[in-house]
Amino acid sequence: MPSPVTVVGGGIAGIACARALTAGGVAVRVLDRALRPGGRMASRSMRGGRVVDIGASYLTASAASEFAGVVEGWVDRGLARPWTDTFAVAGPGGIERTTTGPVRYAAPGGLRSLVADLAAEVDVRHEHTVEQVRSGPTVDGEPVRSAVLAMPDPQARRLLDPSTADRLLGDRPWEPALAVVLAFDRRSWPADLHGVFVHDDAAVAWVADDGDRRGDGAPVLVAHTTPELARRHLDDPEAAAPAVTAAVSRVLGLDAVPAWTTVHRWTFARPADARPEPYGLLDGIGACGDGWAAPSRVEAAWTSGTALGRALAGSA
Ligand SMILES: Cc1cc2nc3c(=O)[nH]c(=O)nc-3n(C[C@H](O)[C@H](O)[C@H](O)COP(=O)(O)OP(=O)(O)OC[C@H]3O[C@@H](n4cnc5c(N)ncnc54)[C@H](O)[C@@H]3O)c2cc1C
Repeated sequence: MPSPVTVVGGGIAGIACARALTAGGVAVRVLDRALRPGGRMASRSMRGGRVVDIGASYLTASAASEFAGVVEGWVDRGLARPWTDTFAVAGPGGIERTTTGPVRYAAPGGLRSLVADLAAEVDVRHEHTVEQVRSGPTVDGEPVRSAVLAMPDPQARRLLDPSTADRLLGDRPWEPALAVVLAFDRRSWPADLHGVFVHDDAAVAWVADDGDRRGDGAPVLVAHTTPELARRHLDDPEAAAPAVTAAVSRVLGLDAVPAWTTVHRWTFARPADARPEPYGLLDGIGACGDGWAAPSRVEAAWTSGTALGRALAGSA
């Protein structure tokens, strides 16, 4: 008797997939190498115990989509909050204008808390690194009913034999990013800044006001680097902090220097080009996440995982 459907990856895609399988009456377990669920919806406790979002900055939900219902449920329970629909746009000379788009949602407890909420009823085993997924399917040699790879393509490829990886995933490039936390003694930027899209800068692509999005007004910014800067610092991410601090100060016109900074490396932050298909499935091995259901973002990962879970439940 094979083991239950095994989802490798406890980010929002893997957890959504497991929930869809459970809803379809299929036994499932999730294995994740990290200590907690969340994946790239990462919130880390920093100095003083305050949580900072160091992965995804916010989430959006397409109008009238199923995911919009999920987000509404979080908002009703106080887990998520509408943050803003307006950000600043900066060029080489600093902030130039604002731009308005969809409502961006943030989470007072950090975005990871939303994945933890979805995972509450799911059998998730943490600190469990999977080494090998093979046709059969097997997970580290153990026969399973189906295996799901809910993670960036390059991480999934490492688990598969090259032929299965080519047929299931192809070979698509993913881009790195560094998330640099800049904590100040006090706030010295405009209260209505929210976040800044930075154009034409070699170091920084985006800056979020973490105190504003989390709702506690803490004097903390989180900058995301360009892929080019990240690529040059993958071996020593902390070494990127001075260049990022200088770029953020220039863009925001700040005189104050941060009291401390810390850098998190995302080797596979986002796909250069996500697929329109909702998921991949080959010989009992499924693939889901934000490399599917383009455009790549949190909503895509949830949509992809949910669709794959339903497909597997229908065929189980
Ligand atoms: C810097 C950055 C900024 C972003 N900003 C935004 C944003 O503002 N808005 C937005 O919508 N999206 C944003 N995103 C994208 C968003 O975070 C992702 O789309 C989403 O979180 C992907 O979820 P996932 O479940 O597909 O993958 P992940 O969250 O990456 O989950 C994969 C999981 O697999 C686990 N894993 C990997 N290998 C193994 C293994 N061998 N064994 C066991 N477990 C394994 C990992 O620990 C991880 O938990 C951003 C991402 C980054 C990195």
